[in-house]
Amino acid sequence: MADKQRSMKTSLTALATMLFGIVLLVLAVLRWRDNGWGALVWLAVFVAMCAIRTPHSLRNRANVVVEARKDGTEIALLAGMFLAMMVLPLLHLATGLFAFADYALPAWATWIGAFAQIPFVWLFWRSHADLGRNWSPGLEVRADHGLVTSGIYDRIRHPMYAAIWISALAQPLLIHNWIAGFLVVPAFAAMWFIRVPNEEAMMRARFGDAWDAYCDRAGRLLPRRMP
Ligand code: SAH
Repeated sequence: MADKQRSMKTSLTALATMLFGIVLLVLAVLRWRDNGWGALVWLAVFVAMCAIRTPHSLRNRANVVVEARKDGTEIALLAGMFLAMMVLPLLHLATGLFAFADYALPAWATWIGAFAQIPFVWLFWRSHADLGRNWSPGLEVRADHGLVTSGIYDRIRHPMYAAIWISALAQPLLIHNWIAGFLVVPAFAAMWFIRVPNEEAMMRARFGDAWDAYCDRAGRLLPRRMP
């Protein structure tokens, strides 16, 4: 019964967050003249990102988790990303809250940010599709966790983080604001440098030699050699 109540509360919180997000999204679109066209591109890709991830989040809620590395640092890193990649940009684009921290960029910089969304969306989609049930937003090992070494994972070990690097570096080019646009760069750099060694240690502990053999042939962000 307590479990049922807890899961009901989680669903209600998720629903309330989603509704709040949709209101901000609509307000942000309405303010597109103030925010610039780069921000419109960012908003469209934000919706695509949610559409790619949500089915995986819903399905993987049924996973039985046997190990979760969720210490204070991991929670701070996730919270930092949630703020810098979603909450602060949406809030600013919807209300102009951080207008005091705006900067100006030439149009070609915004175009680079816009074109970068193509490899981002493809990599983000492909890595979710290939990881399937083994994907989780936190550092987790599930009961029948399998080591994925095929598809996009054949040549690189962190395609999802590669996608997020592209998105993080493009965000300040689309949203011209130090808080709503740029802050995601240090937030994800912290995530990359602190989380990846932890994640890899967790994978090594779980998969042993198979993980080491995989590391020998697949690079972290870039393929070790071209096909
Ligand atoms: N670092 C990967 C995955 C990010 S999602 C990427 O950037 O693409 C994080 C979760 O994915 C971790 O909790 C871990 O359990 C799982 N994971 C990471 N690499 C994996 C792999 N090669 N096979 C199966 N699961 C993996």
